[in-house]
Amino acid sequence: MGRRLVERRAICLRCGDDKDVALVRCRRCGHQPSGEERELAVLCSALVLDPSQLTEVQHRLRRGEALKPSVTLLNRARAVLYGEPARSLSRKELGLLALANGVVTPLLGWAVWWRYRHVPAGRQAALITAPIHALWVLLWVLFRISLSR
Ligand SMILES: [Zn+2]
Repeated sequence: MGRRLVERRAICLRCGDDKDVALVRCRRCGHQPSGEERELAVLCSALVLDPSQLTEVQHRLRRGEALKPSVTLLNRARAVLYGEPARSLSRKELGLLALANGVVTPLLGWAVWWRYRHVPAGRQAALITAPIHALWVLLWVLFRISLSR
């Protein structure tokens, strides 16, 4: 679990009952969210939703309906859960990252990816770093071939 999440209200994903904290075991049905389900559990809490949305979620769960949260809400839940800002990289940041990857080392790009791997910024960092890294490897191979001649 790691960090302690404090909120006033959360909804059990299985039975729809109220609980105080998103990631604890439900006192009514005994369900405890684990793995990726924790993202949904945090989403169904006062950390992400307002009181009226929570009540709506509770009604849906009690009717046995599946939750289909938007990507935006899921990203917000991930940001809360993993303590990362739910942000994307700006054009300028992407440009700087590409430059740093090309001039210094693609390890910088992978470091950014690791830092933001649960939110959109991480995907952006990986998308820009992977081709540059491939280019580095290609250049290194060509360099080795030219040396061996
Ligand atoms: Zn429950």
